[in-house]
Amino acid sequence: KPHVLPLAQHGIHRDQLSHAALKVTSKLQEAGFAAFVVGGAVRDLLIGAVPKDFDVATNATPEQVHHLFRRSRIIGKRFRIVHVMVGPETIEVTTFRGGGIDDFNETGRIMADNTFGSQEEDAHRRDFTVNALFYDPHSETIIDYHQGVKDLHARRLVMIGQATRRYQEDPVRMLRAVRLAAKLGFEIDEDTRKPIRSHAHLLKKEPPARLFDEMLKLLMSGHAYACLKKLRDEGLSRGVFPLLDAVMDEGGEDTFLQLALESTDSRIHAEKPVSVGFLLATLLWRQVHRHWQQHLAEGEKPVHALLLAIADVESEQDNDFAIPRRFSTTMREIWTLQARFDSRTGQRPYRFLEQPRFRAAFDFFALRAEVGEVPTTLVQWWDDFQHGEHDEREALIAAAR
Ligand code: ATP
Ligand code: MG
Repeated sequence: KPHVLPLAQHGIHRDQLSHAALKVTSKLQEAGFAAFVVGGAVRDLLIGAVPKDFDVATNATPEQVHHLFRRSRIIGKRFRIVHVMVGPETIEVTTFRGGGIDDFNETGRIMADNTFGSQEEDAHRRDFTVNALFYDPHSETIIDYHQGVKDLHARRLVMIGQATRRYQEDPVRMLRAVRLAAKLGFEIDEDTRKPIRSHAHLLKKEPPARLFDEMLKLLMSGHAYACLKKLRDEGLSRGVFPLLDAVMDEGGEDTFLQLALESTDSRIHAEKPVSVGFLLATLLWRQVHRHWQQHLAEGEKPVHALLLAIADVESEQDNDFAIPRRFSTTMREIWTLQARFDSRTGQRPYRFLEQPRFRAAFDFFALRAEVGEVPTTLVQWWDDFQHGEHDEREALIAAAR
């Protein structure tokens, strides 16, 4: 028997939902189906945060949902969901999941998740109690099968069911625990937290692409620094993301990384765009820089030494864990361009400015100056040069000689 909370007890009005979420749920309900806003959106509304997106759960099958909405499509294989487009918004509509014994392999890993079930079964399959709340926009009630509202007020993340088994079913839940705890400022409940360290190795068997996606969510959560610290505290920083291994191996207080992540976090809070390539470039910069210095000490010329260093770091990265090309290209460009800030004579500064990645490279360079790696006067010079008129630029070049 779930707790059913009326409006007076939770305070969420239907007009706090997005236009699209309201439209999708009401259309499904008018067609005779059950439809609820579910998951992160309900949780975020309850803590007074603005939901990133709205997910809807229903007893209609994907085909039935697709028939009801002209602008919709069924996506996913292992986990079929329907994307319904309303104006600029996309709502993810999921049919209640049940699940039988056939859905698991011999180690308890979920292999299929397309067995439909009741609302209660659906709640049971979700990860944390605060993520298993259903909001009915029609009656403005919350349906709570797992005391999620209580845990939400206590600010704790509690795994539904037996945590160990739930991590075996899907190891990525360990990363979700860390990310959500950091994002929400919640404690991870002891029974939920304890098995993480001893089950961390399960993550190695996850598809690299899924891990990369999850790491990206972590880095783009607006709490990247807190997330990385927590990953380390919970024993998840090693052997999971080769990229993070390298970062964590550097140990100690890495002020460059801290600055970079904090600046990313504040850009996200200010709703400014964040470049993933830039972010990845900052994560691995310590190693690139160290190799660069070594090659310089061996007598290589700066540009060549930097290219050698980049190649070193790239080969140290686990090949299984490919950073998608669309990000790694930017990352490499930002690094490569760091050697060009020293050339301030002739036409070179002009040509550098025309480089499409100049701006990103310059921001990166400025970050390096903040930790004392390069002189701030040099950052100032390039700042003046970028913004100067022709005569001022000529004067700057003459002064740099
Ligand atoms: P975010 O704020 O990052 O969107 P979220 O909780 O909404 O957080 P989603 O990935 O959007 O996360 O997932 C939506 C919902 O689906 C979750 O709230 C949870 O109920 C369920 N869910 C997602 N991933 C899992 C998982 N690995 N195991 C069980 N349930 C999950
Ligand atoms: Mg979500």
